[in-house]
Amino acid sequence: MKENTEKKIAAIAGAGPAGLTAAFELMGSGTVHPKVFEGSNAIGGISQTVCYKGNRMDIGGHRFFSKSKRVTDWWNQVMPLQGAPSLDDALIGRKKEFAPTGPNPEQTDRVMLIRERVSRIFYLRKFFDYPISLKWKTFANMGLLRTIKAGLGYLSSTAIKKKEDSLENFYINRFGKPLYKMFFEDYTEKVWGIHPSKLGADWGSQRVKGLSFFAILKDMISKRIGVKQKEVETSLIESFIYPKLGPGQLWETVAKDITEMGGEIAMNSVVSKVHIQGNRVDYIEIEHEGCVPKRVDCDYFLSSMPIKDLIAAIDGIEVPKDVSRVASQLPYRDFITVGLLVKKLKMENETSIKTYKNRIPDTWIYIQERDVKIGRLQIFNNWSPYLVNNYKDTIWIGMEYFCTEGDEMWNMDKDKFIKMAIEELVHIDFIEAEDVIDSTQVKIKKAYPSYFGTYYELDTVKEFLNKITNLYCIGRNGQHRYNNMDHSMLTAMEAVDLIKAGSTDKTAIWAVNTEEEYHETKS
Ligand SMILES: Cc1cc2nc3c(=O)[nH]c(=O)nc-3n(C[C@H](O)[C@H](O)[C@H](O)COP(=O)(O)OP(=O)(O)OC[C@H]3O[C@@H](n4cnc5c(N)ncnc54)[C@H](O)[C@@H]3O)c2cc1C
Repeated sequence: MKENTEKKIAAIAGAGPAGLTAAFELMGSGTVHPKVFEGSNAIGGISQTVCYKGNRMDIGGHRFFSKSKRVTDWWNQVMPLQGAPSLDDALIGRKKEFAPTGPNPEQTDRVMLIRERVSRIFYLRKFFDYPISLKWKTFANMGLLRTIKAGLGYLSSTAIKKKEDSLENFYINRFGKPLYKMFFEDYTEKVWGIHPSKLGADWGSQRVKGLSFFAILKDMISKRIGVKQKEVETSLIESFIYPKLGPGQLWETVAKDITEMGGEIAMNSVVSKVHIQGNRVDYIEIEHEGCVPKRVDCDYFLSSMPIKDLIAAIDGIEVPKDVSRVASQLPYRDFITVGLLVKKLKMENETSIKTYKNRIPDTWIYIQERDVKIGRLQIFNNWSPYLVNNYKDTIWIGMEYFCTEGDEMWNMDKDKFIKMAIEELVHIDFIEAEDVIDSTQVKIKKAYPSYFGTYYELDTVKEFLNKITNLYCIGRNGQHRYNNMDHSMLTAMEAVDLIKAGSTDKTAIWAVNTEEEYHETKS
């Protein structure tokens, strides 16, 4: 039976950005009491910060950037913008515009840093700007022949447009075939494990919409003539905000605020059954560390658990065969990060960006080299100096590998994997093996909801779920959409708005990140 309380109960699956945003927003309603159930022992889902011997890892590198004012205001309300230099700013005398009354990151933790995005492509053992810029250095790195080929390829792509029925054609239409082959083909295949010719164009339109050779040219010209930041493609905005101790810090802070306001968050609590009575969820069951499943009655159920698991957990009604088939075969891509603590990198900073000890300035680097499996490299020092226990004397790196649960990479012995990762970094001339001080490995399941296979039949599942009137699918895997944190939060905000308005029409939730206004142009 439902607890005897005047407030309605909203059960929420998942304490990631979506689940926590929903709980936080519901606290403000005054009439609905949120109960969050998190299956793991970590707050923040994929956006958690993993701590290893005082060094913090951001899985994937989470840039806090949104086109939505509602989201950016929300972030800044939880963690105010810095009002004084951070450690690295102070060490190199970097000038920035700080918030006039903002906190000092040297004195407090609850602070958002203002960071610069520097991400480059490593290809032919050289650095290229990302997105590709039309600088002399780019052409020098490519060499004369490749430059001519790229130019001709681009011209031909402007004259003859391919039908955009694959990710490969999406890129070729915007950059031409040679540039696509150089800078997109291999990386995309590493991410998805499938050749871009077999992937739908949807991912491209969400990730790099608006980004093209022409947009890059326009940006270069507008920078020259001093056009204001607001008028430039958002793809080319180069700063972002970032919690002092990584993305997980923001979500841990939100979780603390929720419990202080009276909300409930239960950890290690897996939602294993979603019971439907008529067309409503009347209770869910929670499995907690091997105990007998516990029944939790609810008036609303907000689910950020993967759609695949949600459908499998439905009980009390018969799930149509087609819905089960589509959901059970939804594809995902998983992720392994190797954290490496090193004394130094082999390469020096050759950019004009001033850095501490002249270290390379990149937040992350796309590894486009074909002879290694690594897909991307994070330099955590450059995300926040406070992620690193000893910022001055060590460099804390994240080596990212894309894989699929159960494949050879996923099943590889941890020590063997770390050894391979170190060898790869030595092979591409980033480090000397003897400079490695420490290492660790983190595996993340279902990091990417994939856009192939039964993804194209997802509407069947959505239609079925939408008929369950008090069920709201929110977040990234909760919608099987390539949602960033802001999109995941917006789905939760939309769901709470609907609950407050007493509406059961879920259109607004599913519309997040499908429309132009939500799309980012560079990732
Ligand atoms: C490599 C990478 C880089 C990224 N970079 C960025 C970036 O730069 N900027 C950005 O904004 N976003 C970025 N993202 C996206 C961001 O991580 C997600 O949008 C966000 O974490 C999704 O939030 P969520 O709450 O929907 O899901 P999740 O973060 O996946 O959280 C879901 C939670 O639900 C829990 N759960 C699952 N099943 C159950 C169950 N049955 N019962 C109870 N709990 C359950 C999980 O344990 C998890 O904690 C990146 C993602 C990846 C993988």
